[in-house]
Amino acid sequence: METWRRILADSIVKPKDLAARLGVDAKEIEAIVGDYPMRITPTVMATIKEKGDAIWKQVVPDIAEMEDFEAEDDPLEEDLMSPVPHLVHRYPDRVLLMVTNQCPIYCRFCTRKRLVGKPGFLKKGELDQAIAYLREHTEVRDVILSGGDPLLLPDYLLERILKALRTIPHLELIRLGSRVPGTLPERITPELCAIVKKYHPVYMNLHFNHPDELTPEVKAACGMLADAGVPLGAQTVLLKGVNDDPDIMRRLMHQLLLARIKPYYLYQADLTKGTNHFRTTVETGLNIIKSLQGHTSGMAVPHFVIDAPGGGGKIPLLPGDYMVHMDAAGVLLKNYENKAFHYPQPQQGSARELPMVSAAPALGSCSNGEHDDL
Ligand SMILES: *Cc1c(COP(=O)(O)O)cnc(C)c1O
Repeated sequence: METWRRILADSIVKPKDLAARLGVDAKEIEAIVGDYPMRITPTVMATIKEKGDAIWKQVVPDIAEMEDFEAEDDPLEEDLMSPVPHLVHRYPDRVLLMVTNQCPIYCRFCTRKRLVGKPGFLKKGELDQAIAYLREHTEVRDVILSGGDPLLLPDYLLERILKALRTIPHLELIRLGSRVPGTLPERITPELCAIVKKYHPVYMNLHFNHPDELTPEVKAACGMLADAGVPLGAQTVLLKGVNDDPDIMRRLMHQLLLARIKPYYLYQADLTKGTNHFRTTVETGLNIIKSLQGHTSGMAVPHFVIDAPGGGGKIPLLPGDYMVHMDAAGVLLKNYENKAFHYPQPQQGSARELPMVSAAPALGSCSNGEHDDL
């Protein structure tokens, strides 16, 4: 057996083993994992420092998961947007292909809590169906392999999928969403990197929620992927008691950049049944973005989005106060220090004929004169 498989098999999945390691009530955990499975890899176990810390909350089952009666199993209505099994086609030019239900860890706040942990990979016939759909749909230029976690597939299956996708001429990008580098870094092997390299452009969006997840081993695994030419992005879920704090979030974004990962999305928690206890207010996310934008590298600022309940897709949110006013003459702006600036609009119509006179003097000057061209 490959090393990573053996390490994955050493994960905590049984309530009595968790009780022995963390002193929790095995009976209580038993009641939860019957509905929502648990898996905690050795890497993640080793990162838990104390009861209820940011890593613990993400992976240790909580009775609150069973006390959520109102929310739906599939708030994003993915099942309704699935033209063939395992494929979600919500946007015009890109699709999601769920290739396995298995994950290295089962995040307690998972959006696909309804599916994950059930056995089974994408079967050969199902892959054929997905490929046939994509071949027919020439508008699709971007496929995202998701699940579950695509990097839990054995190498030969991952390669079978990548190879099949690359037979579709109009397909430009292949993306993978994965929590594997952060939770089972041993899975990132030279063999895996060699496979991925053959099918470029392959992008990966990795899942990280807390700076403590970026251990030296995890950073090394990410480095191998980056060296294999894979542009790395990160997706983070805003979680109560885990990362709903500007300081933690800034540290996370800085750690990601150090690991050569560009923060991509910060998600407002979905309305998935069994995950309500992780939700924060929308203002919490907006304040975090405000605390980053302008105060640190622009590279460290992710897009804050809400995946709209009812299947509306991802909708970006920006703190409202950067643009105070806009009309045909210009825009009144406020910067990260809350200082006001005026940006004049190009003058419509008259500008071309009368370039000299058209620059209205009232608009021409930038307030405060603070214009830093370099
Ligand atoms: C998130 C998502 C995508 C990809 O969205 P991007 O904004 O392009 O990253 C595609 N399909 C579905 C169903 C998604 O949820």
